[in-house]
Amino acid sequence: MASDRNTPEFALERAATRFVRVILDDSGSRVFDYGVPEGVVVSPGCRVRVPVRTRTLLGTVLEVTNYSEARGIRMVSEVLRSDAGMNPALLKLAAWMADYYCCPLELAMRAVLPQVIRKSEMTHQQRQRVRLLQLPEEEVLAALEKKAPLQAAALRALARAGEPVSVAELARATDASHAVVRSLEKKGLVRVEMERVERDPFRNEEFVSSPALELNAEQGVVFARVCAALEPQPEGTPAPKPFLLHGVTGSGKTEIYLQAIQQVLQQGRSAIMLVPEISLTPQTVERFKSRFAAQQQEVAVLHSHLSEGERHDQWHQIRSGRARIVIGARSAVFAPLEKLGLIVVDEEHEPSYKQEESPRYHGRDIAVLRGSMERCAVLLGSATPSLESFHNVKQGKYELLQIKQRVDDKKMPFIRIMDMRNESKKTGGIISSRLMTAIEQRLAKREQSILFLNRRGFSTSLLCEKCGHVCSCPNCSVSLTFHKAANRIVCHICGHLALAPSKCPECKDPGIRHQGTGTERVEEVVQKLFPKAVVKRLDADVLQRKEAFRETLAAFRTGKIDILVGTQMIAKGLHFPNVTLVGIINADMGLHIPDFRAGERTFQLLTQVAGRAGRGDVEGEVFVQSYTPFSPSIQFARHHDFEGFWDQEISFRQEWDYPPFTHMVLLSVRSPHQARGELSAQTLAKSIAEGAPAGLFIGEPASAPLEKSHGEFRFQLVLRTRTVQRLSRHLRAVLDKLKFPEDVRVSVDVDAYQLL
Ligand SMILES: [Zn+2]
Ligand SMILES: [Zn+2]
Repeated sequence: MASDRNTPEFALERAATRFVRVILDDSGSRVFDYGVPEGVVVSPGCRVRVPVRTRTLLGTVLEVTNYSEARGIRMVSEVLRSDAGMNPALLKLAAWMADYYCCPLELAMRAVLPQVIRKSEMTHQQRQRVRLLQLPEEEVLAALEKKAPLQAAALRALARAGEPVSVAELARATDASHAVVRSLEKKGLVRVEMERVERDPFRNEEFVSSPALELNAEQGVVFARVCAALEPQPEGTPAPKPFLLHGVTGSGKTEIYLQAIQQVLQQGRSAIMLVPEISLTPQTVERFKSRFAAQQQEVAVLHSHLSEGERHDQWHQIRSGRARIVIGARSAVFAPLEKLGLIVVDEEHEPSYKQEESPRYHGRDIAVLRGSMERCAVLLGSATPSLESFHNVKQGKYELLQIKQRVDDKKMPFIRIMDMRNESKKTGGIISSRLMTAIEQRLAKREQSILFLNRRGFSTSLLCEKCGHVCSCPNCSVSLTFHKAANRIVCHICGHLALAPSKCPECKDPGIRHQGTGTERVEEVVQKLFPKAVVKRLDADVLQRKEAFRETLAAFRTGKIDILVGTQMIAKGLHFPNVTLVGIINADMGLHIPDFRAGERTFQLLTQVAGRAGRGDVEGEVFVQSYTPFSPSIQFARHHDFEGFWDQEISFRQEWDYPPFTHMVLLSVRSPHQARGELSAQTLAKSIAEGAPAGLFIGEPASAPLEKSHGEFRFQLVLRTRTVQRLSRHLRAVLDKLKFPEDVRVSVDVDAYQLL
């Protein structure tokens, strides 16, 4: 970017004694130097407008220096509002992410600084309010009533309100238009002011403050240990070790989080609470908002369903220090809080903490890293810790805290395994006879039941009995799921849908048969078995109506629903004291997928779902239906035996050199052309092998388990290593050098979770 030596800019260049290194928005990882005009305040993380050729573009300052080796340096055009900049600590985090997850720095920064903040146009929403300056004597007001009744009405309404009222509200209450308000303003009776409005998704809700609960002995021990780590540590001492809190379902972990956050607030510091997106229910948010309502403490909420305006305002509320508590999903780990005292990651084992698009970061791992960078305490909690985190305990990197009892001495639910190999002949294989009896008993006692199946729709495929044709997706290598209510067959990968055929599309035979069971079918079968019971379903299909989730949960809580059928959205964190029975329709579903974590996922899911039972005064009972009743994941979950499961699973991982002993890096190659995709995957494997760092395991390039999706053929290459950073640098060099055909897309996933 050479500048003409005769331009005024060149004169400025010679005057510059300070320089900034700026990364432009949308520039990948390229960084440019600019001069800083005399007297302009700038620091790392600032957003700036800079000249590029004939235009000016937005960028972020990475570094401020007093020298630059670049030639023809131009000056920064403008430093934008400093409150829209990046916290320098977060800037460091973004740089680390780019390096570790092998992605462009600019992309990592986008994850940290939301798009709506990066844009300069988005502003705070304002509204006009009318303030009453002086109320005329009653006789004057009465006279005014005849001449200008609307003016009089407006004055009386303002007097009644006793505080400024928005122009819109005033118009609703009295029909007084803007013109009426202007006349009153001219008379000096009122003043129109501008007020900033927070776009807060919870603005219409009242939060009644709720006091802290008393901790039992086990909770007390854990809380004391966490508090010790919350004490500000003297400079120079290492950051406190992250805690892993392993507490059984219903053991009161959330109460510990709340009291620890309270402690942090009292020290004048701030806290982040991460929960899986699916658990960020109104119930969860309400519990947090009401706990801190008494202290007038704002709680910011961050998740993916906020509007741009809401996200903008929540972010500024955090940045300005008005909200010192942030609760949110994965990306809330980047909340721009100052003086961070604690990061809590609830359900730390949840795969949804992993972002499945670039930058493919893991929210829990970023929480641990940010904790060590900002020297604050990190508390990971789960009833079923991930093997990664428990391994870190065994390695001495994390400190283990345990709660083995449920609160108020409630018993763990009793788990029965139903061997469906015998049952299915008798009952058609969906609801075993013993589960049926158990539901009947609950209905008689007016207790509630949950039936869980992690697959939506009615049947999982349509098969022709005559010619064997299966209805499958034209874009993906999966069969289409039949949705009965909509009478459609739907692809759960790409969303392709078609009218359900009444006869075979191939041979026209009418004998087309449903295979496999989804939640919709369970709902229908259960309703037929118990015609008087109120049966409702909760899954992604029901959720297409926005309020459905809230309404259904509210109806279930108030006892208006007897049996709730649902997918994993009913498995997490929900607390219903009247639920005494949980039925798991098909426990084997996740066991046979080609993923080394299949056993771990199944153990976690069974434990979590079973944990929904018996949280009130009546003991809970769980029926697990399975065709492989002796598989270890099912047996260990049955006995609530995490350590037993851990021992057996970790030796399998060690034997195969799988995570947590290594890091798994997945390279995906996608193309609409099968041969081109395959060839690219082979080229990639060869190039990675050349000059690869020692100890790198390189798998064979092969078709992905899901061979085709969204009309593209998918190939993958699995790498395993003990040192990610070295591999990431090597991969970056290889990918920079290789030229793939235009329709071939390559992506890198470090610490991959999605292996299909
Ligand atoms: Zn057929
Ligand atoms: Zn599809």
